[in-house]
Amino acid sequence: MSEHEAVSRALFDQVMVPNYAPSAVIPVRGEGSRVWDQQGNDYIDLAGGIAVNCLGHAHPALVAALKDQGEKIWHVSNIWTNEPALRLAKKLVDATFAEKVFFANSGAEANEAALKLARRYAIEHFGEDKVEIIAFNQGFHGRTFFTVTAGGQAIYSDGFGPKPGAITHVDYNDLAALEAAISDKTCAVLVEPMQGEGGVINADAEFIKGVRALCNQHNALLIFDEVQTGVGRTGELYAYMGAEVVPDILTSAKALGGGFPIAAMLTTSKIAESLKVGTHGSTYGGNALACAVAEAAFDIVNTPEMLAGVKQKEQVFKAHLAKLNEQFNLFADIRGQGLLIGAELVPEYHGKARDILVAAADAGLMMLVAGPNVLRFAPALNITDEEIELGFARLQTAIAQVVGS
Ligand SMILES: *Cc1c(COP(=O)(O)O)cnc(C)c1O
Repeated sequence: MSEHEAVSRALFDQVMVPNYAPSAVIPVRGEGSRVWDQQGNDYIDLAGGIAVNCLGHAHPALVAALKDQGEKIWHVSNIWTNEPALRLAKKLVDATFAEKVFFANSGAEANEAALKLARRYAIEHFGEDKVEIIAFNQGFHGRTFFTVTAGGQAIYSDGFGPKPGAITHVDYNDLAALEAAISDKTCAVLVEPMQGEGGVINADAEFIKGVRALCNQHNALLIFDEVQTGVGRTGELYAYMGAEVVPDILTSAKALGGGFPIAAMLTTSKIAESLKVGTHGSTYGGNALACAVAEAAFDIVNTPEMLAGVKQKEQVFKAHLAKLNEQFNLFADIRGQGLLIGAELVPEYHGKARDILVAAADAGLMMLVAGPNVLRFAPALNITDEEIELGFARLQTAIAQVVGS
């Protein structure tokens, strides 16, 4: 195929593994929270590349960091370290509970590292029976076999043969269930401070504090999966800061690179000691180009103005959704924190979230769902009022089409 031949959506079905069913249009350009497709149609982006593009598309500071580092050095592997990785790690340590950082390339890999570290730490300090991991139903932690098994959705983990063992699940926000399941054989509890993929479910404040207390009682490490909630998404730099519960290990990805693939696992010096030289690694982890872009994104997100803006825009989003609900009686619940917002459909419209997403795309709006019954919004943290306004006008058109009024 010559480079001048048109690349179309049909080519996807020809040459790509069929594990995705992407939208009919191909985005080719973006600026802020606007995107244009091959035909020049424009979209308001309330999906943010699934909570990734925290500063929208083509942010000048990120483009500059990419170009600048791109002309210096891209990759050296972990046989050498590099300046952007060290600078970013220092900033993450300075801004959080953590004292040590491990870089990876995706949320799943950061969680894989966290689970392996928790196992090693427990075995070293408490003996080889302490290997059990407790996670939560409807949780999501990525698609490696260990992390997908830790996730609480059989639809993602079944059908691949024997699973990694010693992982159990209890219901989210059910402290009694966790209390019944946890024991001195538990090495770690893995939890999202707000479930994203599982339906945008807030953690009860008492639940998350209770999880911390039970972990302390049984010498189990508390791992917060902040892959979706981290880097300003909830209006805090990390959601744990708002929950007033400090984890032992925290994983971050998605928004960390502002659109460039990078992830991090954060922990304390004492726990980090269990990952001695050679025990774990990644060829790309800490890649200089990725870290340079992430550093630029972090500098902009980790400011009081940006984080306060997220909390203010949360109110704008929720007010727009409430207004739509007055018109259509569509939502049973509007929830979430910061700019990770879910709107659960009333029973009458169960199963229709995807139809609304498709109608929204036709109306010039990119959005997300979380399961069959929840509309999900995870826009750029710097989305403008004008972009929000236009996005909701288009959502109104899309909903009217689906519910027919
Ligand atoms: C998206 C997500 C992951 C997986 O991240 P990948 O980069 O797709 O591997 C893990 N945990 C949570 C909470 C997520 O939202």
